[in-house]
Amino acid sequence: MTAHRKSSGETAANFARRHIGPSARDVTAMLETVGAKSVDALMAETLPSSIRQAAPLDLGKPLSETEAIAHMAELARQNQVFTSLIGQGYSGTILPAVIQRNILENPAWYTAYTPYQPEISQGRLEALFNFQTMICDLTGLDVANASLLDEATAAAEAMALAERHSKVEAKAFFVDKDVHPQTLAVMRTRAEPLGWTLVVGDPLTDLDKADVLGALLQYPGTSGALRDLRPAIAALKAKGALAIVAADLLALTLIASPGELGADIAVGSAQRFGVPMGYGGPHAAYMAVRDALKRSLPGRIVGLSVDSRGAPAYRLALQTREQHIRREKATSNICTAQVLLAVIAAMYATYHGPEGLTQIARTVHRRTAVLAAGLRKLGFAPDSDTFFDTLSVDAGAKRTEIVARAAAEKINLGVGDASLRIALDETTTPATVEAVWRAFGGTLAYAELDATTREALPDDLKRTTTFLTHPVFHAHRSETEMLRYMRKLSDRDLALDRAMIPLGSCTMKLNATTEMMSLTWPEFGNLHPFAPREQAAGYHALFARLEKWLCDITGYDAISLQPNSGAQGEYAGLLAIRAYHAARGESHRKICLIPSSAHGTNPASAAMVGMDVVVVACEKNGDVDVNDLRAKAEQHSNDLAAVMITYPSTHGVFEEHIKEICDIVHGHGGQVYLDGANLNAQVGLSRPGDYGADVSHLNLHKTFCIPHGGGGPGMGPIGVKAHLAPFLPGHPATQADAPVGPVSAAPFGSASILTISYIYILMMGGEGLKRATEIAILNANYIAARLDAHFPVLYKNEKGRVAHECIVDPRPLKTTSGVTVDDIAKRLIDYGFHAPTMSFPVPGTLMIEPTESESKAELDRFCDAMIAIRKEIAEVEAGRFKIEASPLRHAPHTVHDIADDDWKRAYARSEGCFPDGVSRTDKYWCPVGRVDNVYGDRNLVCSCPPVSDYAEAAE
Ligand SMILES: *Cc1c(COP(=O)(O)O)cnc(C)c1O
Repeated sequence: MTAHRKSSGETAANFARRHIGPSARDVTAMLETVGAKSVDALMAETLPSSIRQAAPLDLGKPLSETEAIAHMAELARQNQVFTSLIGQGYSGTILPAVIQRNILENPAWYTAYTPYQPEISQGRLEALFNFQTMICDLTGLDVANASLLDEATAAAEAMALAERHSKVEAKAFFVDKDVHPQTLAVMRTRAEPLGWTLVVGDPLTDLDKADVLGALLQYPGTSGALRDLRPAIAALKAKGALAIVAADLLALTLIASPGELGADIAVGSAQRFGVPMGYGGPHAAYMAVRDALKRSLPGRIVGLSVDSRGAPAYRLALQTREQHIRREKATSNICTAQVLLAVIAAMYATYHGPEGLTQIARTVHRRTAVLAAGLRKLGFAPDSDTFFDTLSVDAGAKRTEIVARAAAEKINLGVGDASLRIALDETTTPATVEAVWRAFGGTLAYAELDATTREALPDDLKRTTTFLTHPVFHAHRSETEMLRYMRKLSDRDLALDRAMIPLGSCTMKLNATTEMMSLTWPEFGNLHPFAPREQAAGYHALFARLEKWLCDITGYDAISLQPNSGAQGEYAGLLAIRAYHAARGESHRKICLIPSSAHGTNPASAAMVGMDVVVVACEKNGDVDVNDLRAKAEQHSNDLAAVMITYPSTHGVFEEHIKEICDIVHGHGGQVYLDGANLNAQVGLSRPGDYGADVSHLNLHKTFCIPHGGGGPGMGPIGVKAHLAPFLPGHPATQADAPVGPVSAAPFGSASILTISYIYILMMGGEGLKRATEIAILNANYIAARLDAHFPVLYKNEKGRVAHECIVDPRPLKTTSGVTVDDIAKRLIDYGFHAPTMSFPVPGTLMIEPTESESKAELDRFCDAMIAIRKEIAEVEAGRFKIEASPLRHAPHTVHDIADDDWKRAYARSEGCFPDGVSRTDKYWCPVGRVDNVYGDRNLVCSCPPVSDYAEAAE
């Protein structure tokens, strides 16, 4: 111990000590409980020696928190923030400071988990419900989801939805030539493996003759042109094809909604509602559909249900559509939303209200109209007479000169194939407009032109319908009201700022404050993803170093930072494997072996790249059945594309056979996709690239500290061995001729949050990271040791060890007491905890992952709660009351219970509300009782009811 303290005192001192929960003394005590001589000895008993990495991680000297901030300031200085008039789906925006500080910079919001446990998530569920209401209102459609990753992937998802519902047989899809180029590129990536063709054309002239199952139309177009899409939509309808409209939310406050135009689906980005551009993200995309399509809608949907007392309560609706249940038949592989960003966008609309949003839109439009008038005067008539906020101008031979003069004014213009694009936004001032005129060679006065300019929205496209009529969008105009509304909602939720969130497979570790600081600096926040590269030198220095570190950590040769989630990383990795086989003339290799224990995203991703899933059995002890794998690999030898395997396994164990599994698959010409979600058990100890894997995604929001944000954002970069490096995703903005197209709208995905993982590694250093892994494994083994006698630990390796998580098995207790895994999960809320992962990967069990950040005190508090719950189950077993009458089934208890004047239960109110050891002073009260899931799916309500319903209810 002394030796370790000395070395860490010198190198990893400052930050690693803060990041890692247990103290040196705690570690000694915990080792005793688990019966291991030392941390090293425990590692030797946990990981197979054959996969241990030879050399220690050398990532350079770790920086202290103070040094790290100074370093980030230096990188920030290398980014140059120009005024962006590039447009193309990304706009400058003003994030109200009250929202920035109290949501984006507030751990109560950003450290929350995906709201699978609705009782402790009512705050963010309400905020997401507001988001859905806002999207439904603005698009004029019936059901919206709680956000998707970005506009381009939302468009690709919409195309897939259309394919499932279209009456047209042809596997061809029409794309408006005025769509954002990155959207078209992502759709091409998506269509190709499924054998769908894309027809690009002008929807006003080319649709009639096209035999297509659906079409994507941009509204207004990427060029800025505002066209009446009604004839195009009518033409699609006449064929039985589906009409998808990609629409700008701010424009929709002034122009007729996609629903009114007849669209079936609307998609787009909510970025300009207060979310910084962040050199690509994260931002919330949206998707809304007509009622008839709602059961095929991908992503999360928040619905309204009732709780145990019949009071309204929010929850995630229609989860049976998702990959966890439907696997390769799921509507998509998307597991996360962009919750934090959707919440910000909804709060932006709540703060401004419909009249505020309309005013912002009017001002932006007015400035654009004045800009157009000036440009006409200077001899540069815009391509379209009708527009909202964007103009395209054919500058002819003057083009280069104009772009250079704009750059001298610190303005970036959009540089298209033939024309220049100028996109205005909420931050545009008259001075900006005058600067653009100067770039075009004229000195004009804004005020003069303003007086004589008319707006340029066509009369027959003007919006006539109301939106955001619900009271929530009218009650929070003062900053005081807004502040209190956000505080009220966050107080309803349980996030990492209150208690441990022991979710298996999700690695809910510390999201340190220092890691979060730089992403809201303007030098990182206000860069457009397609800004000239030399203006983003700080970002690129960060990317290069982060890629190198991730290669060192994983043993891979190249990294793509593009995928925006783990599931999107899986998709990108499988595309690389597919392209690799094709390049070797083996495109018939389409079989993907996936163990039955795999995460649902694995089969869903395989289906997206056109692979056929063959399920491999697992043995009783949870390991992959190597004999079954060998037999299936042999059977499909000629067509074997890949195996997808999670390591350590989803059962929380380092299987001994991993090398052998890789060898078998390679022996039959297949590639090894190693799902890297569990990398937190490996960093510094073993490297997938060394023991046989070809490609992995790395969930930066698990192992590398990006907060979960209540269900997103995240980042899922992939690492590959050299032979797959040519097949990493390309992007029209950076590498147009890549053999594999982009999987995300932005070339570096959600670039701004890469700062978080970067700072984490910077401050931990190689030794600190290794120590974190060791303590994560120690913490899990400590929990396993303390709980095993009460809830048996389902899977261990031959030496009785678990990896960084463990599955406990209450199933036998169902027979003896009737208790369900739900009862235990909900009773944990009464003890102030978020439940562990329920029923994955084994139905009826709980998967617990403590992470290295939880102290021994918090682990003990959790174990004590679990043991107390076991005692309550014993009371049911002993006949004190039936399970239906027990505090377990009535959990979680709320203020309605403690204030119940008519209490007739078989146990005392205090026993229900303040079980063993729960502080009366610091009690977390969830706002609703147990939520009824079935009711909510039968009576689907996914947006705020119209005000008339409230009036009726009040009568
Ligand atoms: C979390 C997880 C994924 C998916 O990652 P997302 O970022 O949520 O899309 C895939 N596999 C495993 C084992 C995971 O735990």
